[in-house]
Amino acid sequence: MRTVDLQWLFEQSHPVPFSGCWVWTGSLQGGGYARIMTDGRMQPAHRVAYELKHGPIPDGLEMDHLCRVRCCVNPDHLEAVTTSVNQLRGNAPSVVAARNRTPEMRAAASQPKSAEHKAKLRAPKSPEHASKLRVMLTKRNQSAEMRAIASLPKAPEHREAIRQAQLARNRK
Ligand SMILES: [Zn+2]
Repeated sequence: MRTVDLQWLFEQSHPVPFSGCWVWTGSLQGGGYARIMTDGRMQPAHRVAYELKHGPIPDGLEMDHLCRVRCCVNPDHLEAVTTSVNQLRGNAPSVVAARNRTPEMRAAASQPKSAEHKAKLRAPKSPEHASKLRVMLTKRNQSAEMRAIASLPKAPEHREAIRQAQLARNRK
């Protein structure tokens, strides 16, 4: 029976020059994390690596990959953090956007809107603007298939029907 130690973990990995990541070449678990069988059960290999190097992970803390490479098992690329810190450091678009907001942007966003601004937002759009918006929204919501169908040449009856519909709309 092999002993799981850092040397062994390193040997099971593909070392990446420059980044220093130990990219796990063994099996992965859901989410793309390295896993190993040790002490009779499957465990996340990066947690095992961390504990081998730094000692037990404090209760309630989770592992954060500072390199953002989930299958990396280099214990020096790991930090034990709280769940909220881990989430804040994540790469979800909303999280990245929140992180990149400057203090000025945050202050501006939390300012109550002026009455004029609110009135402007509520104001009815001109008919031209409204129809432009409608066209834009329709286009955005169209799938590639719908766009392809829409761009096909129309049958004469279809063209006539469209013309009638447009006439009817313009009469209103
Ligand atoms: Zn790494």
